[in-house]
Amino acid sequence: MTRSSIEFGEDIIRAGRRKQLELPIAKMASGTQVSLPVIVVHGASDGPTIWIDAAIHGDEIGGIEIIRRVLQGIDARRLSGTILAVPTVNVHGFLANDRYMPDRRDLNRSFPGSARGSLASRIANLFMKEIVARCDVGIDLHSGSGDRANLPQIRADLATPETLKLAAAFGAPIVIDAKTRGGSIRAVGTKRGKTVLLYEGGEASRFDETAIELGKAGVERVLAELEMIGPRSGWETEPQVAGSSHWVRARASGLFLSNVELGQDLELGDSIGLIHDSLGNRRARITTRVPGRVIGLMQRPLVNQGDALVNIAEDLQPVSELL
Ligand SMILES: [Zn+2]
Repeated sequence: MTRSSIEFGEDIIRAGRRKQLELPIAKMASGTQVSLPVIVVHGASDGPTIWIDAAIHGDEIGGIEIIRRVLQGIDARRLSGTILAVPTVNVHGFLANDRYMPDRRDLNRSFPGSARGSLASRIANLFMKEIVARCDVGIDLHSGSGDRANLPQIRADLATPETLKLAAAFGAPIVIDAKTRGGSIRAVGTKRGKTVLLYEGGEASRFDETAIELGKAGVERVLAELEMIGPRSGWETEPQVAGSSHWVRARASGLFLSNVELGQDLELGDSIGLIHDSLGNRRARITTRVPGRVIGLMQRPLVNQGDALVNIAEDLQPVSELL
């Protein structure tokens, strides 16, 4: 028996086929229609439905490339289940290389949204109805924000066994047991009973080859774990689960000269960097107060007092101890 087709409005995608769709959002002031682009890969055999989204923060473009590389290796005729890929959830922000919507709203705080709310709220509502409602699992792809680079990491609710299993399968070096943020795609998706992973890696507005390749391999390992595609190679290194993480902040304003790298392990009292003013006077020396691993790092030297400089993951534990 052949698998039934999947329908989006007037678009019908038969089993074993791939199709690019445009879900209408709204017209621009110029009269041009703005749509949410979706790539549907409807596998020939039965299996789970998964969404993979990127650029919900419009300038976080690394995930767009991850989706391109993943889909390049997928043959609908050999896929079990369905992939709904949405490479640019925040189309408006993406076109302007901007994190936010044109009215400065954060699309990832606008879920589940409504049909009559703000533009962000309407896009969220469309995404919930057309994408999330059809899926069992979701992967939400992000990069660091505000000039900060992130070590590849998964954020997920590890209290749920299915989420823990997929978070471990992804194989990012760090997994953070993170509470969901209100109005985020992950929070609302989880509330609707979906298994949602959030992947963070690299920087906004930049391609980080390590974060992209790890993201691609991670998404493929999740698809393999769900038996949607054939087996994939295992982890490069075992993921470490962080009990908590904290930001080290600037104790003074000035130019931050870092002497740490992403992924570096720090002991108590290790030097993180120096802050000088523009005349060369030393204003602060930043050291570690809690040991841990560097998972986020400010890339822009000019900082104000209180700015987040370095994100440190603490209490690391191999993920196999939790499985
Ligand atoms: Zn983001």
